[in-house]
This record gives sequence, structure tokens and C-alpha cells, in this order.
Amino acid sequence: MHTAHAQRTHRLQKLLGANDIDTLLVTSPADWYYLTGFTGEAGVLLVTRRGVTLVTDARFTVQAAEELSGVTVVLQQDGVYRTAGRLLPKRKGRRAGIEPNQLTLAQFEALKKATGSAVRFRSVTGLVQSLRACKDPSELAQMRNAAILASEVVEGAIRMLKPGVREFEIAAEIEYQLRKRGASGAAFASIVAFGARAALPHARPTAKRLGKNELVVLDLGAILGKYCSDITRTVYLGKATARIRLWYQAVREAQAAAIAAIMAGASCGDVDAAARGVLAAYKLDQAFVHSTGHGLGLEVHEDPRLAKGQKTKLASGNVVTVEPGVYFAGVGGIRIEDDVAVHEKHTEVLTRASRDFIEL
Ligand code: ZN
Ligand code: ZN
Repeated sequence: MHTAHAQRTHRLQKLLGANDIDTLLVTSPADWYYLTGFTGEAGVLLVTRRGVTLVTDARFTVQAAEELSGVTVVLQQDGVYRTAGRLLPKRKGRRAGIEPNQLTLAQFEALKKATGSAVRFRSVTGLVQSLRACKDPSELAQMRNAAILASEVVEGAIRMLKPGVREFEIAAEIEYQLRKRGASGAAFASIVAFGARAALPHARPTAKRLGKNELVVLDLGAILGKYCSDITRTVYLGKATARIRLWYQAVREAQAAAIAAIMAGASCGDVDAAARGVLAAYKLDQAFVHSTGHGLGLEVHEDPRLAKGQKTKLASGNVVTVEPGVYFAGVGGIRIEDDVAVHEKHTEVLTRASRDFIEL
């Protein structure tokens, strides 16, 4: 096994006993990629203290042979879950860990049918994700590149904004530019929202044309070398009113306060409270309808979460987004989002685009 993969698997194996399981069924592609480097989309990875077995199908066997070492590869016979179930040790009292948020009921039933009554299943949530939350230097290097790519693409999209352009034209250009510059794709469906549509935090691009005196929210991310970035910028077409400038200033200060609160050892809830406190001082806290940020990595939303009351402590290697926003139905919204890496003694903002208020 590649050293980094061997180390990650070893760390996971040490967690099995503490979670009272003999085998963990790893059922998400991001998790098995992290542990082994396998890029296939279908399979089940069985991790025991002794070794690692991948059950996959014939579409992925060539890839598995190229990408894996130190992992036993088994070709599924009657479905990956039935085959995986038969491979579980059958002695009485054996416990296998499953991820309740990932498995469908049909997959779970296929597993149970194959194992009979000998194996007991335990729900364990986020075991591999807890390891993934702390990025190693090679992961951080990938994430820096993904963040710079997204920053360049958002700046390019801002340059395309002109009266009459449609939301979906900008979204198409964003996704084209991401791919053209080497991303394997967008990290999520890009958000392009003009005018009142900017009041929807997760607006999907429509045929709406950009009009004078409208806010524009652009939220996009790249997947580059498997790792995600996520950036939002809000600009204005025309000359903004004093009220809109004040909202922008408030969001920018809230974001700066949250970034300043990020450090190894700080609780996620305190970072969220820093953003919320600034918006409360502007009497805008009611307009901030989501949490402050989320972890970023192989997936665009992962641990840790920067949300109200979250007790989880930030640690060196975490990468999180910081994205406060305010939304006003019928008027529009403002969000500013950047990606931040937590280091032992400092924080590093990975995204690069200017946060100054831009009036086009
Ligand atoms: Zn975003
Ligand atoms: Zn985000």
C-alpha cells in the first residue's frame, strides 16, 4: 500500500475496537478513495484489523489493479452487498459497522440475507470522515490549487456580467472554464442569482436576464485532483444604494470576524457566533438564515461544520468555508465565501478573489 494510504488505514483500524466493531463496511467513494486511492464508483471496502478487501464489479477491476496495493480485490457475484456479506467473518458475536446515512434499506437487507444471524450490525457514523477532516500536506497542496482555480473562474464570471446576460449563460461559462482549466468538474451545481433571486441561498440558474440595479450572487467550486473548493462573491450592477452598501459591509465584517476566530482549539460554535454577533450589531442576524460554514475536502460538505452551538474543536489540518450571508425576500441577498485552512499557529485563506464591493 502507498504510505499515506497505509497510514490512513492503520489509523482507521485503531478506531475499530473503540467503536466495538470487528469490521467496518466503507460504503462511500470518497471514503474508500481516501483510504486506498481506488477511484471506482461502485463497491464496498471491508476493513478489519487484519486487512482490507474491496468488493467491486467488472467495470472497475482494471482500475482496481492499477490503483491498489495491499488490498484484496473480490469481484461481486450477485451484487456487491451480497458478496460483501458473505465475506464477513461468521463466528458468533461478530460485529460489523455500517454507515446508516449511506446505506439504502435494500443494500442493508442484501447484507443481512448474506450473513444470516451470526453477524450483528452496528451503526457507526462518520468514522472515516473524522480522519478526513484533518488534511495532510499533500491534500492541502491540492486544495490550494482548487481554491485558486475557483477564484480565477469567479473573477472571470464577474467580468462577463452585463445588462441582458442570462443566469444560465454565466453558469455555463463557469462550468466550461472550470473544465478548461483542468478541473474534473464543478464541485456542485453553480449558483448564479440575479436581483430578487439572490434572496434564495441555493438559487439554481434560470433564463432570467441581468437588469440594472440588481445584486448578483455567484457561488461555485472546482474539483481539482479530487479535492473541492467553494467560493462566493456578490457584486452589483449599477450604483448601489446606501442600504445595500451597508448590508455588504456587515457581511464582510461578519466574515472577517469569523475568519479571525478560526484557530486550532477554537470551537466551531464560537466561530459561528463571531459572524452572527457582527450581524446582530447591524440588526441583520434575522437575515442570516444558514450556518457560517462547512468542512471541505474530497466532498464539498464534510466535517467540521461551523454552526450554532457546535462543540467540535477545530484542529490543525481542517479546511472550512466561511460564508455568512443576508437574504431579503423580494430584494436579493449578499454572501461572501472563502476557504480557510487551520494550522497549528495560524490560519491560511486559500481563495484569492478580492472581497471589495464591486459595482459594475
Ligand atoms: Zn459555496
Ligand atoms: Zn459553501
